[in-house]
Amino acid sequence: MEIKKTLTTAPKAKPADESKLGFGHVFTDHMLIMPYDTGKGWHDPEIVPYGNISISPAAMCLHYGQTVFEGMKAYRTADDKIQLFRPEENFKRLNLSNERLVIPELPVDLAMQCLTELLEVEKDWVPHLDGTSLYIRPFIVAVDPFLGVRPGDQYLFMIVLSPSGAYYASGLNPVSIYVEDKYVRAVRGGMGFAKTGGNYAASLHSQDDAHKLNYSQVLWLDGVEQKYIEEVGAMNIFFVIDGEVVTPTLEVGSILGGITRKSTLDLCRSWGMKVSERRISIQEIADAYDAGKLEEVFGTGTAAVISPVGHLKWGDKVMEINHNEIGPISQKIYDTLTGIQWGKIEDTFGWVKKLD
Ligand SMILES: *Cc1c(COP(=O)(O)O)cnc(C)c1O
Repeated sequence: MEIKKTLTTAPKAKPADESKLGFGHVFTDHMLIMPYDTGKGWHDPEIVPYGNISISPAAMCLHYGQTVFEGMKAYRTADDKIQLFRPEENFKRLNLSNERLVIPELPVDLAMQCLTELLEVEKDWVPHLDGTSLYIRPFIVAVDPFLGVRPGDQYLFMIVLSPSGAYYASGLNPVSIYVEDKYVRAVRGGMGFAKTGGNYAASLHSQDDAHKLNYSQVLWLDGVEQKYIEEVGAMNIFFVIDGEVVTPTLEVGSILGGITRKSTLDLCRSWGMKVSERRISIQEIADAYDAGKLEEVFGTGTAAVISPVGHLKWGDKVMEINHNEIGPISQKIYDTLTGIQWGKIEDTFGWVKKLD
């Protein structure tokens, strides 16, 4: 499909100090927008100057939450090339989310074309400083001007880009998280596996409570028995118990299948480590801790890559993990994934997609 390009006549100044980028505040000069209409399909993709969009106040996404999104990064390598990490996986996952939310499929090839042509225009916006990246936010929203509850007939697919600072400016500091035993994030048969706005709206109250208690995030339990571990805010969770790497199984459908999770499992298996994906109860974790066998706990996600957990609070019990320091397995996974992402070490898995 041909992508029409209208370039800005007023390019913005690039952020002067890349050490102060933070996350999600700064946007590049252009964005991609492509409508969908029933009967016509996805059509007329355009790259246009970044700016506000106009939709009806009755647009369905504003009322009933028919929205999906993705999150990924573009990395600048030492030889000044731009590369992506498993981008097709993100667009495959977008389609899993689409299917659940009754949003029409977006062919992976078309999504990839939209992304690579946008990045071609915006490549100077990929920051240079160590650990920085260009965050990529593709999303789809239903925009029919209609107040009835039904799947939309009109959608917008968009991609916006945001240069982001290094997640760890001063080393991998462990986070403190607590086990949420009041609210739940997702239930069996719900939409926990989809990256859709409603899941994050459902998480805000707990996140707020966690911050008030000086915890950075919460660990969600399953929505049926509140017994089995699911995941953290926007991260999957891993435990190293007595030398074995374990993470909750995706089978129940209430956990988001992270690409960092998948890559972590692939790496650990390639190193010959004992790995299992299964149901893990919070009681099992507390017992392993008491027996001195809970060696490491870490979250995985695109933003932080690996986020070591230093304190895990469950009710009155506060578990300090690995003396509140990053463990050797977490460190090795972090070094390898970030090494591949920024092109510092060889990618023997075929994960990296270089832009030409
Ligand atoms: C995005 C996300 C993750 C992590 O997925 P990655 O593909 O590794 O970034 C985990 N959990 C939730 C709820 C998420 O939204």
